[in-house]
Amino acid sequence: MKWETAYFTDFLMVRRLIQIATAVYVFSSTIDAEGFTSGGVLHPSQSAYDVDYYELFFDVSPNRQFFTAISKAKISIQSPLDIIRFDLVDAFKVKKTFVDGIESQFSHKEHVLKISTSVDVSDKMLEVEVHYSGHPPVAINPPWDGGFTWASDSSGNPWVGMSSANEGGKVFFPCKDHPSDRPDSAAISITVPKGLMAASNGKLINITHGKTKSTFHWKTRYPIANYNINFTIGKFYREQKTFTSISGQEMPVVFYILEENRDRASTHLDMAMKMISSHETYFGKYPFIDEKFGLVETPYLGMEHQTINAYGNQFRYTELGGEPFDWLLLHELGHEWWGNSVNVSDWADYWIHEGICTYADALYHRNVEGEKGYHKKMASARKGIKNEKPLIPKRNASTDEVYQGDIYGKGAYLLHSLRFIMGDEKFFRALKQFATSEDFTYKNLVSDKDFVKHFSLVSGLELNSFITKMLYSTKLPQKIVKEVTGNYFELSVQGLSRLPVEVKIDAEVRRMKLTDDPIRIRASEKPVIDPNHWYLWAKDFQK
Ligand SMILES: [Zn+2]
Repeated sequence: MKWETAYFTDFLMVRRLIQIATAVYVFSSTIDAEGFTSGGVLHPSQSAYDVDYYELFFDVSPNRQFFTAISKAKISIQSPLDIIRFDLVDAFKVKKTFVDGIESQFSHKEHVLKISTSVDVSDKMLEVEVHYSGHPPVAINPPWDGGFTWASDSSGNPWVGMSSANEGGKVFFPCKDHPSDRPDSAAISITVPKGLMAASNGKLINITHGKTKSTFHWKTRYPIANYNINFTIGKFYREQKTFTSISGQEMPVVFYILEENRDRASTHLDMAMKMISSHETYFGKYPFIDEKFGLVETPYLGMEHQTINAYGNQFRYTELGGEPFDWLLLHELGHEWWGNSVNVSDWADYWIHEGICTYADALYHRNVEGEKGYHKKMASARKGIKNEKPLIPKRNASTDEVYQGDIYGKGAYLLHSLRFIMGDEKFFRALKQFATSEDFTYKNLVSDKDFVKHFSLVSGLELNSFITKMLYSTKLPQKIVKEVTGNYFELSVQGLSRLPVEVKIDAEVRRMKLTDDPIRIRASEKPVIDPNHWYLWAKDFQK
């Protein structure tokens, strides 16, 4: 998601607040999703198993703001256990649980579902089935404070969105709510009143129709994070085009758009395809090419749900390179590489999702408007940085402990500095390898250590101290230019670990290594250290 817009109070949000107020008034059992967080220290009993597969069935009643559901999880047991511990919010009532088809005892309190079983061997596969129902938590400020958004389109048709990036999948299904474990694949079936559609992840396998209801059966064969499992319900028009990847493979690009906006679908998909093409040149082929690039119009701003990005920016285009441009479309699309394919096992490394994705936004600006556009975008990212808290305050962190605006801007700036340090050839090669290597994608989750190791290896430089300082502290280097006498100046830099800087000396820009031991330079004007602002400096944040 995008931080800068977190406090936008637009027409959409006002409308939503009215709807939420109504929801709370009508359904006294409705709770909001505020206060839920995801990740943190993995509970020991959850490290005893891995989830391989989720199969979810929802029967949604938009009028009642209610659903009944069955979830099936295939798990592989890593070490003997007596209890299978899932996360599921208390808003739901669990009716029955089964382990390998046999009904089992359970308890459900404090948002934890414990199912009794007894497995005394490892390497065993189990199927755990849960029958439950309820009024799911209502989103207060989606997608930042997520949950369900019960809205309606301008003709009064139900329009239901769901967002859970910071709360985790437990706000709508029983899961191991931790980033370190993502299933290999997932299937989601959504039953809705006839006439409505449900858009979800992966491929639409089929649609079955009953007398008053229709069921949409979706399946993804790619690994997926629990917060990326998602559906949106509405009276949609479906537009599809074909994208040809850099690899030559063709793929559908699909937009589930409100019928009232159907005329906008074609232009919007053309814009998306242009962005995907640009990203493919930097980060390699689109990571979910065997399924689709999908968009669905949502009653909240947006989210990077894998192969079905939430789009709620209401077609408020600006201009880039003389053409209409949608920043939200670009940003969420970038997450298909950064967040969905390359993904972290600990929310401490949230900056890998948001920082590199924000940097990807800047590279699209570079593609359209050249270096000038790129530097303009990075300057705007820099202005948003506060540098008050480190990007990584601790390891084994929850979303709440880490989420702040700097994971976007300062995270992106780290990449910007590395581009300068490494030079374009090595930097862009390292970035593409990080996005495409089997070691760093899909099931192979990454951390800051993988990033440091990989970029150091490709550059042949010791980058650990610079990167670690950028991530774990708010300390930034200092640059000092002192006029000594006449046309002589003393230049020094502190805290940059002997990395190169640009220095503008009269009309010339030189690449130099400066340390805290000042060097004397002759110039007719005062020299400028780092005139193109490749680094963040302590001075940038002095109040
Ligand atoms: Zn984002």
